[in-house]
Amino acid sequence: MTSPAPLVDIGANLTHESFAKDVDAVLGRAHAARVATLILTGTDMAHSEQAAALAHRHDGLYATAGLHPHMASHWNSTLESAMRALHTDAKVVAVGECGLDFNRNFSTPAEQERALEAQLGLAAESGLPLFLHERDAGPRMREILCHWRDDIGDAVIHCFTADRETLHGYLDLDVHIGLTGWLCDERRGHHLREIVGDIPAERLMVETDCPYLLPRNLPAKLKGRRHEPALLPWIVREIAHWRGESETTLAAATTTTARRFFQLDEEQ
Ligand SMILES: [Zn+2]
Repeated sequence: MTSPAPLVDIGANLTHESFAKDVDAVLGRAHAARVATLILTGTDMAHSEQAAALAHRHDGLYATAGLHPHMASHWNSTLESAMRALHTDAKVVAVGECGLDFNRNFSTPAEQERALEAQLGLAAESGLPLFLHERDAGPRMREILCHWRDDIGDAVIHCFTADRETLHGYLDLDVHIGLTGWLCDERRGHHLREIVGDIPAERLMVETDCPYLLPRNLPAKLKGRRHEPALLPWIVREIAHWRGESETTLAAATTTTARRFFQLDEEQ
């Protein structure tokens, strides 16, 4: 499906091994679907460097650079210096993915908070926006962001899946919200359908988080495949439906918001 207006996929894990063999074909399909601008997610040093390198090879591609909370136990001063250097790369447009994940706790909460605080410091230093991951850690994330609010610039909670109270807590802090195909999932996305209309258009962006989270509203012929940026229009269709607006309106608004948030050049 082709989007009625150009889209920005703000969370594409194209350095994931599942894209190693056919990334050019994936980008070709994304272009055809009018998803020509992608923010590639960096989840650790190696993947952040790979994402930046890939972004340098293609117009319309940008990268984030950060350490995911799952890997937070690896944070140290050497890594911090390397991240600081990568944040000066012209194609690196955000600090992250960083944050808190108290759902799986692959790193301890204390390790996660330490790595997050350090990366908030890097964002404050560089002036770059933040690409944040939060799962089952809303109250603590809000406290930490509250503390840093005056020092950091824009921030987005990517793949937002929490409840109305958490949503409004973030909106009150002027934090942006990234939505994935989670709300296409009739098993666990119901609560999101009722609250997506609360997000102001200028605070809302869209993402695939591919290859994870294949949307469940795909037609039969597309089911069971790998998720990729070309499928973002299906997610936009679902979000637009639950917001009671047209796909064109939502696509245009999220693209305007993403271009401003990541300070992308109009030419790209
Ligand atoms: Zn994430």
